[in-house]
Amino acid sequence: MSTNNTTVQNARPSSSAEGVAWKLADLYAGVDDPAIGRDLAMAQKRAQAFESAYRGKIDVPGGPSADILLAAVRELEGLSEQMDKPIIYASLVHAAKTDDPKHGALLARTREQRTAINKHLIFFDLEWVKVADEVAQCLLAAPALARYRHYLEQKRAWRPHYLSEPEEKILEEKAITGRVAFVRLFDETVASLRFPFVYAGQSEMLSLQQINARLYDADRRARQAAAEGLTRGLRDNARLLTYLMNTLVLDHRSDCNLRHFDDPMGPRHLANEIRPSVVEALMTAVERYHGSVQRYYRLKGRLLGLDVLYDYDRYAPLFADMPACDWPTARSIVQESYEAFSPRAGAIIREFFDKNWIDAELRDGKRGGAFSSSTVPSVHPYILMNFTDKLRDVMTLAHELGHGLHQYLSRDVGYLQCDTPLTTAEMASVFGEMLTFQRLQQRYPEPRVRLGMLCSKIEDSFATVFRQVVLTRFEQALHRARHEQGELTTEQINELWLAANRPMHGDVVRLTDGYGWWWSYIGHFVHVPFYCYAYAFGELLVLALVQKYKQEGPTFVPRYLELLSAGGSDAPHVLLGKLGVDVNDPAFWELGLHLLDDMVSEAEELARSL
Ligand SMILES: [Zn+2]
Repeated sequence: MSTNNTTVQNARPSSSAEGVAWKLADLYAGVDDPAIGRDLAMAQKRAQAFESAYRGKIDVPGGPSADILLAAVRELEGLSEQMDKPIIYASLVHAAKTDDPKHGALLARTREQRTAINKHLIFFDLEWVKVADEVAQCLLAAPALARYRHYLEQKRAWRPHYLSEPEEKILEEKAITGRVAFVRLFDETVASLRFPFVYAGQSEMLSLQQINARLYDADRRARQAAAEGLTRGLRDNARLLTYLMNTLVLDHRSDCNLRHFDDPMGPRHLANEIRPSVVEALMTAVERYHGSVQRYYRLKGRLLGLDVLYDYDRYAPLFADMPACDWPTARSIVQESYEAFSPRAGAIIREFFDKNWIDAELRDGKRGGAFSSSTVPSVHPYILMNFTDKLRDVMTLAHELGHGLHQYLSRDVGYLQCDTPLTTAEMASVFGEMLTFQRLQQRYPEPRVRLGMLCSKIEDSFATVFRQVVLTRFEQALHRARHEQGELTTEQINELWLAANRPMHGDVVRLTDGYGWWWSYIGHFVHVPFYCYAYAFGELLVLALVQKYKQEGPTFVPRYLELLSAGGSDAPHVLLGKLGVDVNDPAFWELGLHLLDDMVSEAEELARSL
């Protein structure tokens, strides 16, 4: 699932996707469908029965029998699906029209009931983790449990990091007034910040989202004013934001100490199912290619006619006059690009269009951005996007359909294992984008349009690869400095931020002093420490897969589809290994970085031909 192309919609732009709305009847007939209540009530009953049947039966001397464990996991899977289906439906109707109070109420009701049901299920994980290692190893090797091996194994990966049950309870209880409270204070503070935007003789106060949008303005004075306003707003709140960051970094450290993680990145690596050495190899490979970034920004400066490029020029639009693309054309381009790759993939994509699994029209109260929701394996995924007739929207459609294809194919591995970890979650979406991108390049051969599309693709890739590695380096430095030097001042953190950003921008993009404050609104650092490198992992993985497809041709296709069908039923390196991809090989990352560098060269060439 993902969100991109989030825009602030004041006046509603025109859209040729009018009438393209999803039919959610495959889930429920409507918000008043009595089946919603029935499913929740049934899930509640099943959860209670599950608890009385299995509590105290998993953590027993000698462990449970494979049959008992299998029956328990099967029932857990079935009742989880029944418990989640109403909440998934509620989220979808709510996203499609957030301003209908009935939708908000349904969402709240289903969420509350799910929490109540979940209480009966928590014991299972705790008991399973307590089973002795040698016993668990035997169970995991049992043929009867083969289908759920990875699911069960992955739960036990956390075993060395669990505390005793009373300790866990205390931590959870106190977190509500500790970490959770600080995170909420951060979210509410950032959401309520207002930034002064002084432009064209006018002065107004803008939200973070609004002032960020002005950084994409074609007028440089507007971008500069946005950058100054953003800095001022953050500087005025620096004391609070700095304190929040110091506290949460320290909290993370004490969590790591209590749970026996030596490295503050440890918990994230474990959740991502990835070895620390792989992440370090990925990051150093990315850093070796900073030259590509700088070459691109030099080109961008030339195209914009700017001698010196500042931080606030990075998002400047290159061409204002890109052609429009209506829904039928977008549909045929995306459809054709998947079909040419694989008739089977094409047939699945066709179902999304023909059976109304996509919500693309613009509607008051509809959520911004785009996502694909996997729903439950017994149904199928649904896609939401806001189609505004731009070429960018075609890429978004291809992206979400990539997720949709992945989610559709992985239904067979079941509800508990169909989702992948973060590192491979964007695999099919970005791959699908690349397929469509190549087709778009053929469809719009005019050099100026091709260059515009190419630059926007390059900038997206830079944001997912290079910037995310910069963010991760900053976080590493921040956690280290907080540990070694104690509470940090705003100025110290600003300096860490600038130091992490300088190598990527070199002497090509000048970072203003004000840019030093810009770490302080980034939610990832607060919500999930070390979240960001997974983006770089996913993007480079896809670029490497694109290269492999180029080299291997049609034999690549069935193996790729098999990879998607496996969902999250095994660790990413195992599944990727079947495709001949070795993420543990440091040289692997060069493949994708090379492709990015080639794209920059292509842009340079196209620019020369204008
Ligand atoms: Zn995505």
